[in-house]
Amino acid sequence: MRKLYLDNSATTAVTREVLNEMLPYYTEEFYNPSAQYAGSREVRQAIKAARAEFARAINAKPEQIFFTSGATESNNIIARNYYVAASIYEHPSMQSGLIIFNEDLEDKFARINREHTLCAMALPEVISWQMVNSETGMEFPIKEIAELAHKKNMLCHSDMTAAFGKVLIDVEYLNVDFASFSGHKFHAPKGIGVLYIKEPDKFESDIIGGGQERGIRSGTENVPGIVAIGKAASLYNYNAEHNSDAKQARLYVLSRLRTSMPCDFKVLEHENSSYQVPSILNIAIKGIEGESLMILLDGKGICVSTGSACHSASLEVSQTVKSFNLPPEYEHGTIRISFDDSFDADDADYLVDVIVKACESLLALKGM
Ligand code: PMP
Repeated sequence: MRKLYLDNSATTAVTREVLNEMLPYYTEEFYNPSAQYAGSREVRQAIKAARAEFARAINAKPEQIFFTSGATESNNIIARNYYVAASIYEHPSMQSGLIIFNEDLEDKFARINREHTLCAMALPEVISWQMVNSETGMEFPIKEIAELAHKKNMLCHSDMTAAFGKVLIDVEYLNVDFASFSGHKFHAPKGIGVLYIKEPDKFESDIIGGGQERGIRSGTENVPGIVAIGKAASLYNYNAEHNSDAKQARLYVLSRLRTSMPCDFKVLEHENSSYQVPSILNIAIKGIEGESLMILLDGKGICVSTGSACHSASLEVSQTVKSFNLPPEYEHGTIRISFDDSFDADDADYLVDVIVKACESLLALKGM
């Protein structure tokens, strides 16, 4: 059966190039980086090189990069150490009791009424706002959000997990104080991530232990993972040409769906296409259960997700989907297609044909 993996927002495969780079650090170069012999010094050098590579990819300084086990941990470090107000779009690892609603939603995704929403709250210490929403691919104006946070004497954290490789990230220009990343979203393995801290000397971590990562993230370093995330960051950073190919692919899928779908659907996206990551396409289909459609696509070898895989255990509509104020007959029919550079016109045709047939059978079952 033909296989088509279209869930790259959930995770990506480790590529051969990344794997080859990391493998020696499991075997010949297995040393504990904290030890004092020559092998350990070499391992420390590899960590140093990976830190520099990751820093270069986001225009940070190496001393601002801290390796963690993934974005969940990076987000948690911030959430546990500060009184945080988080946007409604955040991953569960960054959700807070204090939620920043997007008050300006009359017409789908308009501007964020930042002044209004921020003034309405008791002042938190940190504002947390994703750079790119992993469910829909909408990009948020992080530079402006950071500026506003600073004006109000707050710090700004941005979860950039879904942004790496999809948009240009320059943490110095964006002027965020913290940012989170997860390697497996860009071809490094699962279980390695980064926390960027603009001023690490002012940061006090609550993780106690051996003092690795300058005391901010104790625990023996995941050397193969660190080497991998450095390599992956240098290989799979934002690429304008790939982005424009993805734009074409998205337009093609949408135009084919518009002419062949048996029922209406709405696209969950940024109203301004310049702020939409093209490789993520989230559609809400009228009268269809997203879960049922996903299962039928799986039967044809196509992997997509309903909303975000992070929330897959629950059938509840996510806050992000809710924020679009869709009519109820659309709300449960969302599927997220997230493709990579290998997605071509042939794949797009196969995808659309399978979706159309699956929707026809689901509607027929309902007698529609
Ligand atoms: N933030 C976002 C936006 C995510 O999509 C994810 C993963 N789905 C995470 C954080 C958590 O990443 P990890 O599971 O790799 O820790």
